[in-house]
Amino acid sequence: MLIAVYPGSFDPITNGHLDIIHRASRLFDRLIVAVGRQAAKKPLFSIAERVEILKAVTADLPNVETDSFDCLLAHYVEQRQADIVIRGLRAISDFDYEFQLAMAIKKLNENIETMFMMTNSEYSFLSSSIVKEIASYGGCVRDLVPPLVAERLRRRYQDSR
Ligand code: ADP
Repeated sequence: MLIAVYPGSFDPITNGHLDIIHRASRLFDRLIVAVGRQAAKKPLFSIAERVEILKAVTADLPNVETDSFDCLLAHYVEQRQADIVIRGLRAISDFDYEFQLAMAIKKLNENIETMFMMTNSEYSFLSSSIVKEIASYGGCVRDLVPPLVAERLRRRYQDSR
C-alpha cells in the first residue's frame, strides 16, 4: 500500500493544487493532503477553514484524505506511515525552495522520497498569492479556483472592506 502526503499552505487551494491532487490520487493507494502551519506566512484562512475547504473540494475522490499538521513535515510523514511526499513545480523559481525542502526531509528520514509533479501548463502561473491579490481588488477568480473558494474569497474580502 503506497501512501503519499501532499503538504502545503493551501491558503486557499487553487485549480493548480487541485490538478496535482487529481493526478496524484491516481498514482497512489492513498493521498493525504495536509495543511501545514507555516510560521513565516500570515494566512488569510485559518487551518480549520483550509482543511474544511480541502475536504469539500476533494469529496469526489475516495482515496484522498485531508488533514493538518503542526510539526516537522518529515515527522508528520512518519506518523502517518507514508512513503512519499508530493510537491508541485511550476517554474525554475520554485526549484530552490523545493530542493532545500527535499534535502531537509532526506536528512531527517532517508526512507522518505520527495516526488515532483509538473504543473499543468494551464496553471503554471497560478499561485494562492496571485489569487488573493486578484480577489482582494474584487477581480474575477472564477477560472482559477473551485467555485466554493471563489465564494469564500468574495465573502472574506467583502467583510474586510
Ligand atoms: P507551500 O507554502 O508549502 O509552498 P503552497 O500551498 O503554496 O504551499 O503549495 C503547495 C505545493 O503545491 C508546492 O509544492 C507548490 O509548488 C505546489 N503548487 C502550487 N501552485 C501550483 C500550481 N499552479 N501548479 C502546480 N503545483 C503548484
